[in-house]
Order: sequence, then C-alpha cells, then structure tokens
Amino acid sequence: METKRDRRSWLRGGTERCLVPPKPQEKPFRLVLLGAPGSGKGTQAELLCARLGACHLSTGDIFRVAKELETCERTPALTAALDCMRRGALVPDETVLAMLAERMRCLQCQGGFLLDGFPRTVAQAEALEKLLAGQKLQLDAVLSFELPLEQVIARLSGRRTCPGCKAVFHIEARPPKVEGICDHCGGKLYQREDDRREAIRVRMEAYETSTAPLAEFYQQRGLLVSIPADGAPETILERTCEALKHVLNADHKSE
Ligand code: AMP
Repeated sequence: METKRDRRSWLRGGTERCLVPPKPQEKPFRLVLLGAPGSGKGTQAELLCARLGACHLSTGDIFRVAKELETCERTPALTAALDCMRRGALVPDETVLAMLAERMRCLQCQGGFLLDGFPRTVAQAEALEKLLAGQKLQLDAVLSFELPLEQVIARLSGRRTCPGCKAVFHIEARPPKVEGICDHCGGKLYQREDDRREAIRVRMEAYETSTAPLAEFYQQRGLLVSIPADGAPETILERTCEALKHVLNADHKSE
C-alpha cells in the first residue's frame, strides 16, 4: 500500500516541505475538480490521486489546518477567512490567492496535482491561468462532477471527516470500518461545522453565484469534462478515468 502523503508543502505553505514527496511522473496530471459542495469531488480527488500519483491540493484543507493554529499565530486576514468559512461563505479572492502564491512549488511539482475547491470564482480562475502560464504549465482538463441538489444535501449532512489525515467518509455511502474512527490513521471522525444545515444553505448559494460560472469559463477553453456524479465512489472513479482517457487521447491526436 502506498504511504499516505503528508502534503506538508501544501497544507502549511511557506518554507515547509513534504516529508513523503510525490514520485515524479513521466506525464504529470494537472487537473481541476469542479462540483457543488457534496458532489463527491473530495472523495474522487483522493481516489484519483491514488490512481494517477498526483497530489490532492484542496484549499479547504489549508483553512482547516489553519483553524488548529493558536489565535496569536493567525494573521488578521486568516482570522477573517476562518470566520467566512464557519459561515459557509467564500473567503475573499485576495486571501486565497495570497495562500496559493506561497504554494507555487505544489503547482510545479513533477508528481502533478488535482486542485479541489480552487478556483472557486472567475477571478481565481483567471489568476490561476496567469500563474500557470508564467511557469509554462497547462491544465490537462477540468473535471466537473454533476449531481442533483437533493442528493447533494443528503451527502453533505452524512459526511464525516478525519481531523488527522483529512480522509472523508459518509455514514451510509462510505462508512469507516469502525464507526466514528478513521480507517487510515485511527483519528476520531467529526462533522465539519460547514456541513451543518444553515452553512450548507449559504455554501450552495455561494456555489450557484460564484462557482457555477466556472463551467462556462473552462468550456470556452475546451477543458471542461462533465462527469455524472451519482453512484458508488469506485463507479464514479472508473467513469472519470474513462473520460480522462478520451480527453488525453484526443489531445495526443491533435498534437
Ligand atoms: P471546501 O472544503 O472546499 O468545501 O472549503 C471549505 C470552505 O473553505 C469554503 O466553504 C470556503 O469558506 C473556504 N474556501 C476553500 N477554498 C476556497 C476558495 N478557493 N475560495 C474561497 N473560499 C474558499
């Protein structure tokens, strides 16, 4: 079994380095994952990373790690960001982009990456495009996981997260082997504050207003790949890999 990555460079930023660095890939995958909260993109990110050898870069995970910092270690921008997060609102673009700028090494990583939860606004997508172009890097595809609203809500309210390794479970669809305990590291699973009812409503509104337009943004660039996100995680994973194969084959043919 592959050792679980610690993703230290991403989670902590600055001068931190991963203790378990990703293996360089001959063809590193550089993907963005889109989808409403609860569409299962976090789970797919984990499964896809294991399959493709790429690293899971979730901006939400950066904020969850920052929540564990002592109050005196937080900058005012970070304190405001954590308050947005608690309410289910989006963190200002400026704060998110500053955090990304501190983590450029993760975008350059030869293991490849799957961005999950970023970009979330058109301004962030434009900034990402510029950052990647500056490094002569390109996205291979943007995977959009699509699921009807009532299924989204059922998924979110049953979701449980590990505070240690950040693995995600669902009380019905993906239960841990032992109730309430993480399969990977033995951490005690918890329900995220922003998976509670009121925060879910705010997050869905933020998604519709700010993030849904990204599908159009990436469609125009020929990068969007829509994936129906219903069914078991492994089924969706196979569907995703199949769709990716078509995209990458098409790219090779047009080169
Ligand atoms: P996630 O785990 O991706 O659902 O993110 C959890 C929360 O972190 C979101 O509801 C936002 O408050 C904040 N967040 C994460 N990524 C971003 C982003 N790219 N832009 C703005 N806010 C973000």
